[in-house]
Amino acid sequence: MMRRCQQCRRAGAVRSSTVDLCEDCNTAITEEVHERVRTIQETLRKSKMEVSVGAKLRHWDLILAQTEALLKYEEREILTTCPPPSTLLEDFRTMRDTVLGKGEA
Ligand SMILES: [Zn+2]
Repeated sequence: MMRRCQQCRRAGAVRSSTVDLCEDCNTAITEEVHERVRTIQETLRKSKMEVSVGAKLRHWDLILAQTEALLKYEEREILTTCPPPSTLLEDFRTMRDTVLGKGEA
């Protein structure tokens, strides 16, 4: 029985982490995740240096959007980040709320 890629449904998938992905999808997802994680890290750094609460919140909106975009993979049991996106999202929402509440963090 030929394995199917969980992303594009093509037969002949290779084994990747917990689900089956073909070589093309595995590469595409890896690149997308890498790019989103890079953006999240860079924006976290910018947010820390930012003094204006409004600008901090705009950074946090981007961080949350990037993390939410990774959730679709977690829902399909495709490994992306460690800790998983759902855990990161909880932490990031708490950190964003701290900015709203105190004007710092
Ligand atoms: Zn595929």
